[in-house]
Amino acid sequence: MNNIAATFKEKKLKLTPQRIAVYEYLKSTKEHPSAEVIYKALQVNYPTMSLATVYKALKTLVEVNLVQEINVGEGNFRYDGNVCPHSHIQCLQCGRVDDIEDVCFQDLNEKIAPHTDYDVLTNQVYFYGICKDCKNCEHN
Ligand SMILES: [Zn+2]
Ligand SMILES: [Zn+2]
Repeated sequence: MNNIAATFKEKKLKLTPQRIAVYEYLKSTKEHPSAEVIYKALQVNYPTMSLATVYKALKTLVEVNLVQEINVGEGNFRYDGNVCPHSHIQCLQCGRVDDIEDVCFQDLNEKIAPHTDYDVLTNQVYFYGICKDCKNCEHN
């Protein structure tokens, strides 16, 4: 909570209840929800919050680097309250997105350095596959 309050104060942004709600929701889940999913989940406690407000809150949170935007290539962005660098894997069947923890791809930056004249600062690696639940379904 301190994190968002301090960041918003520093950036001179208004800390609205909606922005806090979106941030806290993302902090509480590892499911990488889309804006629509966040919107539906917050309807319970914030019945007057519109989808547009959720989008605006997400945009602001991404801009101040409290939330990570993930484009898994489905034309539908997902959001992650964990802004530490980590990789993601998406299920090609049900679309769920999970974190890949404990593997660091920082050495990829060094690997591609000879192939570009950019100073390579970061990378985003996505993996695709079939999740455990979908795999189990197929076997039934
Ligand atoms: Zn799946
Ligand atoms: Zn993640």
